[in-house]
Amino acid sequence: MPDVYLVVGGSGLLGRYIAKQLHDRGDNVSVLDIVQRYDDIPFHQGDICDEQLVFSVLRKCGVTCVIHCASPQAKSAAPALFWKVNVDGTKALITASVQLGVGKFVYTSSSGVVFDGSDLQNVDESHPYTRKTLDVYMDTKIQAERIVLEANGNNGLATVVLRPSRIFGPGDRQIIAGLYSTYMTGRTHIQIGNNKNLTDWTAVVNVADAHILAADRLNAPISPDAPVHGQVFFITNDDAWYF
Ligand code: NAD
Repeated sequence: MPDVYLVVGGSGLLGRYIAKQLHDRGDNVSVLDIVQRYDDIPFHQGDICDEQLVFSVLRKCGVTCVIHCASPQAKSAAPALFWKVNVDGTKALITASVQLGVGKFVYTSSSGVVFDGSDLQNVDESHPYTRKTLDVYMDTKIQAERIVLEANGNNGLATVVLRPSRIFGPGDRQIIAGLYSTYMTGRTHIQIGNNKNLTDWTAVVNVADAHILAADRLNAPISPDAPVHGQVFFITNDDAWYF
């Protein structure tokens, strides 16, 4: 049976690309978000912290695969909102998914869960969580990862966590706005370190692709030939990325 997808946070930069790519390849997909920005894909408006709403959307649609990329923007919210949405909201989605026998759950975390501000190069997924996160956003991403990974195998639910670094591309409302405001306020004569710092940026189309590949590999029911379940993956561009 083909999967029935719910893209949570599907009005956002990444979620939109995921929902559109699934829609374009002919999949049955709908979006759950607190904000509606598009009307070409079936949409459910609501807050993921509302347990009853989450349960009823999943049940009504017969969802078999949740792709959860909703979050307050990294620099924008009060700490309590991060805990509420990223931790309680993720818990609500996981609880409903387990209760309803949803087969697959893909969670968007962040590479920042291993970052304490010191240099990191060529680390892999065996690197432990940092004990000194840069902000509460990362604290809540770590907590959400744990909730998602602990649920793997519960009532047949196969879960996977993806960790992109910075995401860029058409539709972005954070990065360009931030750069523009820095420029407009004249804060441009700055150099951080020796000017040879590296940072990781990934095209949104590729991050979306990674989510769909992960979902495709989360074959429900859990089987030995679906080795992505219960795991985390950093997501980055290879040499040849494109828009
Ligand atoms: P975005 O802000 O564009 O999209 C997030 C979406 O989540 C928005 O449409 C928002 O309305 C929705 N949302 C927020 N709170 C909600 C709630 N309580 N209930 C329902 N929907 C809610 O963000 P994005 O850049 O597309 O990021 C997507 C995911 O990727 C997030 O989980 C983010 O933490 C993660 N991430 C982003 C970046 C980046 O550079 N943008 C980097 C690493 C990880």
